[in-house]
Amino acid sequence: MGLFGMAGKDIGVDLGTANVLVTIKGKGIVLREPSVVAVNKLNGEIVATGQDAKEMLGRTPENIKAIKPMMNGAIADLNATSMMIKNMMHKVSKEYNVGKPRFVVGVPSGITEVEERAVEEAFFQCGAREINLISEPVASAIGAGLNIFSTSGKMIVDIGGGTTEVAVISYGEIVSSTSIKVAGNAIDKAIADYLKRTQKFNIGLSTAEYLKIQIGCAKPLVADITEEIKGSNTETGLPMSLVISSKQINEAIQDCINEIVEAVINTLAVTPPDLVSDIMENGIYLAGGGALIRNIDNLIAEKTGVQTFIADEPLDCVAIGTGKSLENIQKYRKVFLNNKSR
Ligand code: ADP
Ligand code: MG
Repeated sequence: MGLFGMAGKDIGVDLGTANVLVTIKGKGIVLREPSVVAVNKLNGEIVATGQDAKEMLGRTPENIKAIKPMMNGAIADLNATSMMIKNMMHKVSKEYNVGKPRFVVGVPSGITEVEERAVEEAFFQCGAREINLISEPVASAIGAGLNIFSTSGKMIVDIGGGTTEVAVISYGEIVSSTSIKVAGNAIDKAIADYLKRTQKFNIGLSTAEYLKIQIGCAKPLVADITEEIKGSNTETGLPMSLVISSKQINEAIQDCINEIVEAVINTLAVTPPDLVSDIMENGIYLAGGGALIRNIDNLIAEKTGVQTFIADEPLDCVAIGTGKSLENIQKYRKVFLNNKSR
């Protein structure tokens, strides 16, 4: 192994509330797993992470609990987060010879110092020689292809699982931002609540997510689409199946969608006027899985009067952004939150 191999790979990580993505310089995205950990309640041991753990959510045997440690955009459970990081990095290092890697890790913009230290420690325990944290909206903007170093203001709206982050970036810095806890998870819950209320129909959150992805829309569709799903009757408890329309899902998620639009409008309201006029020119960019909700771009454009674009590969923007920063680390160093070496 040459010197280069000894030094280890450059690895980018998106520590999202719904999904963790890992990218290796020169290889692209090598891991994509739900941010879920399954733990044995009796001895605290980790039973599974990622997809395997997600399948246990809502149907776990008694002595196992499945947790989403990044649930609300902050780290709800430090210990579980650190176990998740180690477990996922273990999966990566089983397949790739990563040596002692240098990491760039996208973290929620609201992360506390204690959480930062915990994330860094987890990566050092995975053999990191260097770790750099980057704020998620900044990584997302880089991944969406925006030139964050230009002085011209750019707006990125990242609609993830736990949070929607709206940020205006100019000259590599976040000038104004809003973070709300209304995003994919809240939308799933709104769908389940709506069907319970209006149809006496009980469904789990993963079925609600399925409906959102298949037929969800932020504005009614020109041609309504439907999907048949299974659940149970709230009164009799008996199984039933029902055909649900995109119009119903649109109604169900209206309040959540409005809050997201409000967050965009409120951020524009506190942004210096010169940067607002830049955004008028440059447009608003949507990233995160929520950017894929049908018509959300049209709705935001209509409510703000600013043309709105969905980033290519919205689910991958943060991971791609961390990867791009590793390709030219000298240039991007100034946007990292911190840098630690061991
Ligand atoms: P995070 O960064 O918080 O981990 P992601 O950007 O990975 O979140 O997005 C996850 C969210 O996006 C989930 O709530 C998921 O249901 C939602 N999502 C994924 N694909 C779609 C789609 N095609 N339409 C609507 N929502 C989607
Ligand atoms: Mg994200």
